[in-house]
This record gives sequence, C-alpha cells and structure tokens, in this order.
Amino acid sequence: MRALFISDLHLSEDRPAANERFFEFLEKEARGADALYVLGDLFEYWIGDDDLDDPFNAIVAAFFRGLAGTKLYVMHGNRDFLVGERFCRETGATLLTDPATVDLGAGNVLLMHGDTLCTDDLDYQAWRRQARSPQFQQQFLAKSAAERKQAVLGLREKSKEVISAKAAEIMDVNAGAVAEAFRQHQVTTLIHGHTHRPAHHKLTVDGRRCERWVLPDWYGRGGYLTVDKGVARLVRF
Ligand code: MN
Repeated sequence: MRALFISDLHLSEDRPAANERFFEFLEKEARGADALYVLGDLFEYWIGDDDLDDPFNAIVAAFFRGLAGTKLYVMHGNRDFLVGERFCRETGATLLTDPATVDLGAGNVLLMHGDTLCTDDLDYQAWRRQARSPQFQQQFLAKSAAERKQAVLGLREKSKEVISAKAAEIMDVNAGAVAEAFRQHQVTTLIHGHTHRPAHHKLTVDGRRCERWVLPDWYGRGGYLTVDKGVARLVRF
C-alpha cells in the first residue's frame, strides 16, 4: 500500500510553474500509487462547483479522472470548502470529512486540513464557523458566479492585510489542540497541511509517542508525503 498526501497547492491559472509541477506529479508519481489524498486548499479559491466550467479547472478535473488506478480522496481546505458533489463526480474523488481517520496498513492515521488546530487565531475560527454554516453557504451559492467571485477576491485582499498584521505563532497550530486531536481519535500519527510549515514533529501525548507530519505548500517548491507500507517520508521538489 503506497499512499501520497498533498495539500495547499493553491492552484490558479496565475501560477503556471506550480500547475506544471502538479500535472507532472500526477503523471509521474500519483499514477503509480494506490491512493492520493488531497488534504485541502487544492485551489486558490472555489466559488462552487460551477467553477468546473472554468477551462483551467476543467483541465485539473481531467487530470484527476486520468488517475484511473489510483484512488482519489479530497478534503476541504479553508479556500475550497465549497468543493461538492459535482466535483467528486467529475474527478472520481471521494470527499473526506475533516477530521478523518484512515488505515494505511499500519493502524489508523488521522488526517486534517489543519486550520482547526490553529485555535489561537480567534478571528479566523469565528469566520470559519460562519463560513461552514449551511445557511451561509446556501445564501452564498444562491448568488451569481460573478458576485461570488467578487466576494471571494475581496475577502482574499482583506485576509492578506489581516495575516500580515498577525504574529506568526498565532497562525501556527496550538499545542493543546494537537494533543487533544491525538487523544480524541486514539491515533499516534497525524497528517495535515494549512500552516505552510512542512515538518516531521515527534511528541509524547499521555505517555504515547506520536508523530505529526505537516505537508508543504506549493507556493514555493512544493512537495508531498509518501507513506509506503507504513513508512512515511516527506519529499520536496
Ligand atoms: Mn489552508
């Protein structure tokens, strides 16, 4: 069993180098794996599944469909939490809940996007609760595509300002939230993205040795985590 994990690609037509790397990764690496897990923020933004009508997004979907022998799993990130049923149908993906536990052949592993671990960022958590509520999503999806795109681009500008004013540690995971995740899900391995701080952390929770793998973003070099017969390794491009 060989599974690959990626997140935080933030795919957008504006960054062709990352897109090329992504398509090459799918062709050369993912095609030979048993499963590919996309743990959120595949896209820079996603205004709803009618975004599949965009030519660039349609190309991404076609590449995923081409992974016939590799099982594809997708989890929502904070940028693309409106990825829905149509996306899954057209790509062959299975949508994962966040958090999700999966057995990769060596016991259960906990998968998360990672934003729910950043509990020190209170403004963000408040926004997340609002954005994930069914009422908010219903209202948002009822708007025209042009209105939704406008709203998302406006939010992005605002969040850039807010982020640059925030201390770096606020936007990293909270140690207590991490320990609680291991405890609650009774696992010793956690894989997540979101923080753009790729690493392999070793820690002890309630006397048990645990490890936390943080996936790299693709703004820079990009990369992925491979788990081959229970052995994990971070690969940077
Ligand atoms: Mn994220």
